[in-house]
Amino acid sequence: MKLARNGTGPEIFESLQGEGVSAGTPSVFVRLSLCNLHCRWCDTPYTWNWVGTSYAHDSDTPGAPRKYRREDEIVELDIEKIAAHVLTFRARNFVLTGGEPLVQGRELARLAALLRERDPACRFEIETNGTLVPPPELDAFVAQYNVSPKLANSANTPAEREKAESLRFFAACERAWFKFVAASPADLDEIRQIQTRYVIPAGRILLMPEGTSSEALRDKARWLAPLCQEHGYRLGDRLHVHLFGNKRGV
Ligand code: SF4
Repeated sequence: MKLARNGTGPEIFESLQGEGVSAGTPSVFVRLSLCNLHCRWCDTPYTWNWVGTSYAHDSDTPGAPRKYRREDEIVELDIEKIAAHVLTFRARNFVLTGGEPLVQGRELARLAALLRERDPACRFEIETNGTLVPPPELDAFVAQYNVSPKLANSANTPAEREKAESLRFFAACERAWFKFVAASPADLDEIRQIQTRYVIPAGRILLMPEGTSSEALRDKARWLAPLCQEHGYRLGDRLHVHLFGNKRGV
């Protein structure tokens, strides 16, 4: 399985879930490499923005786009090694994130099966951009999907970011929570259109303020709060930003 590299090892760490309906839950994060999208504000571009690609990113400087060498950013580990590593932590809530973890959905299913065999208390959450349908052998282990469909501000084309089959799958799945990152009031129109098109229950939608500082999150939460009340959405937050700032692997 291809995991993101952090220093000399894979990006696996224990922390509190910072976002979504299980925010605050002690969790082990497993960050997989590879993504099928290319969001221009992505905070994990080291999982996909490889040398030789032409994707634009906010961290680019004129004439010198910031790119990553694939061979430097991926750690390839078999599921036995990953299972042994993650079980050294205390938490048994596993957040499988990326990149886009469902790119490696079949390998994740084997990892989840092995972990559940070793400890029946293992619980799995998947963070996904909502463009891929999880394979059934993985779905059988998943307690919660945190689905974050991307909007026009991500710079992915509509055909890339909006996949009807998978959005219908998640809309119909009661274990799926939709987390929309809202940067401006204009994003609300697009969110409402996606909700209507795929019949997503309002009670499973969270609006999460965009921002990498407590101040920015608070400012956006102020205008998001009344919108949540108006439409029946939940207001999300980014706990890890308040606790740790915008740091990687905490
Ligand atoms: S889908 Fe997620 S990981 Fe992929 S580019 Fe967008 S923000 Fe980054």
